[in-house]
Amino acid sequence: MATQLKPRIECSDAEWEARLDLAACYRIFDLLGWSESIYNHISLKVPGEDDAFLINPFGLMYDEVCASNLVKIDIDGKVLSGNYPVNQAGFTQHAYFHRHLEWAHAICHHHTTEGMAVASHKDGLLPIGFYACNFQGQIGYHDFEGVTVRPEEGERLLQSLGNKRILMLRNHGPVVMGRTIPEMFVQTWALQRACEIQIATLSQGEPVTVPQEVIDVHQRDIGMVNLPGGPGKADFEAWKRKVDRIDRSWRD
Ligand SMILES: [Zn+2]
Repeated sequence: MATQLKPRIECSDAEWEARLDLAACYRIFDLLGWSESIYNHISLKVPGEDDAFLINPFGLMYDEVCASNLVKIDIDGKVLSGNYPVNQAGFTQHAYFHRHLEWAHAICHHHTTEGMAVASHKDGLLPIGFYACNFQGQIGYHDFEGVTVRPEEGERLLQSLGNKRILMLRNHGPVVMGRTIPEMFVQTWALQRACEIQIATLSQGEPVTVPQEVIDVHQRDIGMVNLPGGPGKADFEAWKRKVDRIDRSWRD
């Protein structure tokens, strides 16, 4: 099946691999119910290029995204190549992070019901579930200032993030960043599960709160787990196979 990886557009091998990763990620998000009509974004830096990013074509559903219709843009959201427009305003917040955080190659922002609900709770993500314990002390929070399209908010977004890799936009939703698509994906997956479990737990009444010393042990021990291929790689490959069993057109 070697022909399935043949690029359908003019680009470097590294860019085509990045396109495949990102297109798969859109399909996986859709399969998991994390898409939001034609809105929201996952963006990825093009390897080996200083000012080039890939993003979804504006107007398409996530299950219509494929490797060749992803749009290549610069840090200002200007289209470098592609046959579709992009939602430049929606890329604004991603651009702050891509511009200022050299490790933040893969970034997603989503509007899942559970992610938005936890972002809208005054206490944010509580230490009341296994997955939530992964994230205690590792999420920045940013107060809602209206739709995130004004460049002057960028400095405050970065301050709110601090040295974290996840920013919870209060009353809005999460931004999750990683060095790679698989790393960002697995963090997004665990955070989404944490949010779902928090809502289910709080619906029962008073939760059991995990003490800080137990959270410290938990985070120390999960940090020592050896993950073949890097964080999220096995998860991402498994979800790609699941998407492939439904529809392989993301490889186009
Ligand atoms: Zn949003």
